[in-house]
Amino acid sequence: MSLIKEKEALINELIAMGIKDEKILKAIETIPRELFVLPHYIGESYKNYPLPILNGQTISQPYTVAFMLQLLEIKKSNKILEIGSGSGYNAAIMSLLAKKIISIEIIKELAEFAKNNLKKASITNVEIINSDGCYGYEKESPYDRIIITAATPKIPLKLISQLKEEGIIVFPLDKGFYQVMTKIKNNKIEYFGYFSFVPLKGNIKSLNIK
Ligand code: SAH
Repeated sequence: MSLIKEKEALINELIAMGIKDEKILKAIETIPRELFVLPHYIGESYKNYPLPILNGQTISQPYTVAFMLQLLEIKKSNKILEIGSGSGYNAAIMSLLAKKIISIEIIKELAEFAKNNLKKASITNVEIINSDGCYGYEKESPYDRIIITAATPKIPLKLISQLKEEGIIVFPLDKGFYQVMTKIKNNKIEYFGYFSFVPLKGNIKSLNIK
């Protein structure tokens, strides 16, 4: 099947799996995922599973990306902080839904990979920063939305302190062998089923210290 046909099939699969947000589906249709995978996996760009990138990390499954972004209730005026740039794909999707994306990546090689991929896709409203996302990114705070794309061992109070009062944070809270998708909005915490993510690295201790 051609990549165009595969993309069409993926969109239909996401709809069948319960993704309803038209803007998210449109963004997935618009962003060429083949620019964000390693050359070896280009043929699998629109498969609904994660793919290996560099340093043992992965580009998330398209369904997981769509599901998290649906929970994030993104508005066009939003400034978003992402922890875990990886390939830059999730940031690329968000770049079409929001005003500005700050995305932090702890592995230098991957920060470069994400930057290059975004450049290839002509995306200009995403800033990739090579640092430890456990500290957040004070300089551009407060954020309307925060998303963590790695298994988070604790409620990230440090990041929540950089969120606007009416803001929303979505992250996979680590429960050992799996993670539970977690959303905090207006001091209310909600859980949305089980997912699998690579672990968050860095100074985990600083995560729950405001
Ligand atoms: N959102 C990515 C997939 C993320 S995989 C995409 O669309 O492709 C998780 C990423 O989080 C990995 O690249 C990993 O290196 C990064 N990461 C792990 N701990 C981190 C930390 N403390 N700060 C920033 N990035 C981190």
